[in-house]
Amino acid sequence: MLEMLRSLSGVWALCCVASAVGCTADPAARTALPDRFVLARHQLLIHSDFPLPEHHRLVEELCVQRADMSHRLGLPASDEPIHVYVFETAERFEEFLRYRHPDFPRRRAFFVETDNRLIVYAQWGDKVGDDLRHEVAHAYLHSAVPHIPLWLDEGLAEYYECHPARRGLNHVQLERLAELLRSGWQPDLVRLEALIPPQQMNRDQYAEAWAWVYFLLHSEPAHLDLVRRYLTDLREGGNRGPLSARIKQACPDAEAVLVRFLADLIDELTVKKSTSLRGKPERHRCPGIECCPGRFTASSRSLAFGRRRNSCS
Ligand SMILES: [Zn+2]
Repeated sequence: MLEMLRSLSGVWALCCVASAVGCTADPAARTALPDRFVLARHQLLIHSDFPLPEHHRLVEELCVQRADMSHRLGLPASDEPIHVYVFETAERFEEFLRYRHPDFPRRRAFFVETDNRLIVYAQWGDKVGDDLRHEVAHAYLHSAVPHIPLWLDEGLAEYYECHPARRGLNHVQLERLAELLRSGWQPDLVRLEALIPPQQMNRDQYAEAWAWVYFLLHSEPAHLDLVRRYLTDLREGGNRGPLSARIKQACPDAEAVLVRFLADLIDELTVKKSTSLRGKPERHRCPGIECCPGRFTASSRSLAFGRRRNSCS
């Protein structure tokens, strides 16, 4: 589960992902940042103690993500450096945090914002792709838009942490939303907007934040325009009224429309999964969207999206 934390001073902002614990014997190694190698690509300065190929697939994806966020969200491409420190092992990362940031929770990755630096800390491993896409999304956003609301910041990071082939469709969050919908849960953007740092979002609030973002970016062009105009206003310091008010104006029944949108999306993906698996040996079958791990399976990446079924008219 991901979460955004900010200190009471408001100077630091960080975002993080759950992790394991370890230790090393060398105190100097415990406190040092990985910095033997630096790979520079656009805004990114990727620091590590092991060499990364200049055109590493993940680095290329992060560059494409920058262009996609700029194009899709209407954001100007910032040239503010983003320092990404990649630790080779979980143990090395854990020891660094223990000595340098003992107040941080145990996580796999963090985004940290100070008055003059944007920093991502992450450990290399099986989940580094999701982790870096998520944390670097925060960094890209913060380099272009000051004071972005917590829910929108996290919702967009949840959207962009997905492998690019999934086009923002976060199966982990959709799985949670399927559970919530079965129990009668109702979305409420005003409730979500009331969360401000240093408050932390819980699992269900992350899922709802992703749902609103995915709905706004994929349901109707007018909804995407709302997000773009809102981000532009935030960037230019204009009217920062809540996005929920603008959505309400364009779509008075937005919560109900979102519920139908999600229900249709869950049904559609369940049918696609069932159809695509028909005839395959039982041992290869996925149990369905409600309990499919989704996040790291190759099959989930092949699903198609771009739905326009639900509208506000
Ligand atoms: Zn985050």
